[in-house]
Amino acid sequence: MSDVDKSTNRSDNHQKRQQRLKEKVDERISAAQEERGILQVITGNGKGKTTAGFGTVTRAVGHGLKAGVVQFIKGTWDCGERKLLEKFDVPFVVMATGFTWETQNREADIAAAKTAWQGAKEMLANPELDIVLLDELTYMLSYDYLPVDEVIDCLANRPKHQFVVVTGRAAHRKLVELADTVSEVKNVKHAFDAGIKAQVGFDY
Ligand code: ATP
Ligand code: MG
Repeated sequence: MSDVDKSTNRSDNHQKRQQRLKEKVDERISAAQEERGILQVITGNGKGKTTAGFGTVTRAVGHGLKAGVVQFIKGTWDCGERKLLEKFDVPFVVMATGFTWETQNREADIAAAKTAWQGAKEMLANPELDIVLLDELTYMLSYDYLPVDEVIDCLANRPKHQFVVVTGRAAHRKLVELADTVSEVKNVKHAFDAGIKAQVGFDY
């Protein structure tokens, strides 16, 4: 077979494969007819969980949807997404302590977690909110700061159309079970390990 024939043959095979793939994908797209609020969990040890959560909120706000954000771990830095989204009237509830691994006072942490959770519960009961981001909620469950069953209950009984994104490492088994979409961000490498500090506009 000449080089030209080989190339034609390859193109034909490629086209047939793509055609079969398209048919399969089209079939699955037309089968997926249900429309309802999704619960998404973004977990794992790699960087990008909070970034992805805020990306989804920004996408929703861009389409005119109403969003709310609860940050269960307040960073020590200014949050760029908060600065932007508050300009679009997105309400924020921010837990009144620093990173949990910096704090020493469990009782104060639990009290702060409960106050933030109260704000989250109100958002999860508010049908006017189309999407709620519960950033770093997973730690509140793994540290036993909040009752798992109550959290699961509120998530399960939220308005049917409401999207929720939960972020944080080590997502609780019950949260993963309840969720519709779960993504695990894997750490391959992180700049911090090479001594590069967290920088404004990229890390926060
Ligand atoms: P981001 O907010 O950048 O999307 P994240 O939400 O996935 O990160 P967290 O576990 O919430 O990550 O950690 C918060 C901070 O720790 C961020 O500043 C992030 O850059 C940093 N970080 C995330 N993953 C790692 C890692 N694997 N090693 C070191 N630092 C990390
Ligand atoms: Mg995060």
